[in-house]
Amino acid sequence: MRQLDTVIIGGGPAGLSAAVRLWEKGIRNLLILEREKQLGGILRQCIHDGFGLTRFGETLSGPEYAQRFISQVEEFDIPYITDTTVIDISVEEDTGKKKVVAASKDGLLEFEAKTVILTMGCRERTRGAISIPGERPAGVYTAGVAQAYINLQNKMVGREVVILGSGDIGMIMARRMTLEGAHVQAVFEVQPYASGLPRNILQCLDDYGIPLYLSHTVTEIRGRERLESVVVSQVDERMQPIKGTEKEYPCDTLILSVGLIPENELSLAAGVELDPRSKGAVVDEHHQTSVPGVFAAGNVLQVHDLVDFVSMEAEELADSVAAYLREDGLTPCGLSVMTDGNVTHTIPQRISGTEDFKLSMRVRRPMKDCRIELVQGGQVVAERRMKKAIPAEMIQIPVKAAKLNEKEDLEVKVVC
Ligand SMILES: Cc1cc2nc3c(=O)[nH]c(=O)nc-3n(C[C@H](O)[C@H](O)[C@H](O)COP(=O)(O)OP(=O)(O)OC[C@H]3O[C@@H](n4cnc5c(N)ncnc54)[C@H](O)[C@@H]3O)c2cc1C
Repeated sequence: MRQLDTVIIGGGPAGLSAAVRLWEKGIRNLLILEREKQLGGILRQCIHDGFGLTRFGETLSGPEYAQRFISQVEEFDIPYITDTTVIDISVEEDTGKKKVVAASKDGLLEFEAKTVILTMGCRERTRGAISIPGERPAGVYTAGVAQAYINLQNKMVGREVVILGSGDIGMIMARRMTLEGAHVQAVFEVQPYASGLPRNILQCLDDYGIPLYLSHTVTEIRGRERLESVVVSQVDERMQPIKGTEKEYPCDTLILSVGLIPENELSLAAGVELDPRSKGAVVDEHHQTSVPGVFAAGNVLQVHDLVDFVSMEAEELADSVAAYLREDGLTPCGLSVMTDGNVTHTIPQRISGTEDFKLSMRVRRPMKDCRIELVQGGQVVAERRMKKAIPAEMIQIPVKAAKLNEKEDLEVKVVC
């Protein structure tokens, strides 16, 4: 069995960024395994621009952004295998060595590694996940699937379109379908606020005259072979449909942009603890999961708003993996990061109290003129004042070790 220092699972922006940084740090006995035929992850189908402003100071399309890292992988000659899906990770109890099993067209491949980096990205929630009643005709797509058909396979998915969910991918697809000649009637969002970024509301909906209806949802799908119409209802404050508000929209296509979920199967196989708040792995400030030597970054860890932060998170992870391999371990992280009801989740969930780290988080609902406080033992150790905080935007707060102690848990709260 081939012995490696590191196996990276997933060749999207997180996996590529981690690989390049590890290589630069002299960790060369590594391998990227990618299930698709090409490297690049979900960015390959994101042909719009808006990527890279933070990381590169310029705005790139998804494929251009990915290519920056793929070119470095090629230049350094970092080993990778595509068209190969990792199907299992197990950890040997006595030695802590990880066995990674992958299915390739040449059969099963097995590797033994000192560390494993989880960068498998996330998947879209489907109609089944949100249980929309009605018939099961063709013409109902998740936004990412519709995007892959149009941008990668040059196949138009429909002409008369309704979009459910105001996630970024849904709004980007509203614009894309309009540019391809479809008529997008409206975007409906069950929550009383949009779930995607404000810039996408402006650039993808407002600029194209596509209305966004908040507190509305699809309550029935109609059509036997192909979608014929959807019924949309207003919802109350508990997000329950209000009787008597039903309106039928004739359409041949319903696009769902109703959330993303980290790809957790391999994390679970490896015995990694998951956080019900982030829906991804519990990690410490080194991006190490509950299994020593197994690390996670990118959308498999937390659904990011911008790919720039994915790359930066994966580069920080790579620094920790390099330290782990060189020093055979990292500072133990015995303190928990607790949240109040206004915070959906934080990364990391565990800290040492002895090192600088960056906290990523999201708020649960839109808030104005608030202050995010990180409190340890009654003392505010870091804070950020915000005129506006919205769930669509990831918030990052740097924390200095000099302000921390090694004994008390950290609390994150939002004061309005
Ligand atoms: C439609 C859409 C529009 C977006 N628009 C923007 C934007 O305008 N600006 C912006 O900054 N960000 C945008 N993003 C977000 C950005 O694309 C993501 O944050 C980023 O791609 C996440 O990177 P990742 O490496 O974590 O995951 P991914 O890009 O999803 O990569 C994960 C990789 O892992 C592979 N993989 C999964 N499981 C396995 C396995 N078992 N074995 C082997 N390989 C596996 C997958 O094939 C994939 O290649 C958009 C995302 C989408 C979907």
